[in-house]
Amino acid sequence: MAESVIKDRELPGLSNEEIDRYSRHLLLEEVGIRGQKRLKAARVLIVGTGGLGAPLALYLAAAGVGTLGIVDFDFVEESNLQRQVIHGTRDIGRPKVASAQDRIKSINPKIKINTYNTMLSSANALEIMKDYDVVADGTDNYQTRYLVNDACVLLGIPNVYGSVFQFEGQASVFYAREGPCYRCLYPEPPPPGLVPSCAEGGVVGVLPGIVGTIQANEVIKLIVGGGDSLVGRLLLFDAWKMKFRELRLDKDPHCPICGTNPTIRELIDYEQFCGLKKNTGEDPVETITAKELKERFDRNDPLQIIDIREPHERAIVRFPNAKPVPLGQMARRIDEFDPSIDAVFICKIGQRSIFAIRALREAGYTGRLLNLKDGVNAWAREVDTTLPVY
Ligand SMILES: [Zn+2]
Repeated sequence: MAESVIKDRELPGLSNEEIDRYSRHLLLEEVGIRGQKRLKAARVLIVGTGGLGAPLALYLAAAGVGTLGIVDFDFVEESNLQRQVIHGTRDIGRPKVASAQDRIKSINPKIKINTYNTMLSSANALEIMKDYDVVADGTDNYQTRYLVNDACVLLGIPNVYGSVFQFEGQASVFYAREGPCYRCLYPEPPPPGLVPSCAEGGVVGVLPGIVGTIQANEVIKLIVGGGDSLVGRLLLFDAWKMKFRELRLDKDPHCPICGTNPTIRELIDYEQFCGLKKNTGEDPVETITAKELKERFDRNDPLQIIDIREPHERAIVRFPNAKPVPLGQMARRIDEFDPSIDAVFICKIGQRSIFAIRALREAGYTGRLLNLKDGVNAWAREVDTTLPVY
């Protein structure tokens, strides 16, 4: 049975009002007065107030976690509201931490909230995280995920992990003191751009709600003590098939940060580690902005416009005069392109189209290939503002 991360810290008392508020917890033998006092004494940092961070913050605040830290640098956007239920329509344009703070306060005015309106980085992570007992990772990118993992290992605190994509979610507890860390599971990040983000691939709105509440439940057990935590287990959830699976995770003795001979002893450059800095070895892809493309249209320049998006995406926004060629068919349909005419590749945000260009190049295509910077969304924002951004 797992020990509480709060251990022997002197516990605060509970007022009669708090006893009333938390009575459904107090009735549980497994929580009780001691567990609720541990929750009150606990300090939990939530990284990100997006799809996962929203249920994490809502439920942990409601549960009476005494100090909640929330880190986010982002602003609330309309497209967040389909799943980030901590923010409301009137919050669009506000910093997410401010919006989240208001909502948390309205649920539970008794808890302390620390907001960090900043991007978590190697420069500030240890300073921000060092005062917390547990970190819950609600990020959506690899560089922050590795950063959170490494900082938690270095600080000796558990990292309650969750991630979501389309209909699939994952959750685990990475606690190097008792089990594997994220690097034991994934020693290397995937090449940048290869794994689409939720912004490109989509996500069903309920999914982060389910995975985030699983994370909140793990956080509560770590604080209260007892129960079976997800340490050493990777929970996989398929919302479309409604199936849970579980993989056993072992600690990797060769793990560079939590193994027997660690080589990483401080935070590193995570952008570089995740391949996000300019890679000089790879041919740069030539870009064209939406405005430049419009100018070329206006001049009637001969152009081939290739839309590499999926049919269901093209149904959201049609791009004028574009020929649809799915990414997977690019190389095999090389003969359909005319190397004497510039070809412009478009996708939603200008990421997947880079892979289309690389695929054609590798297949030996000799013509000029241009990538529409920031994709169809840039076209909708800068050129044809009657089109929706999605
Ligand atoms: Zn490890």
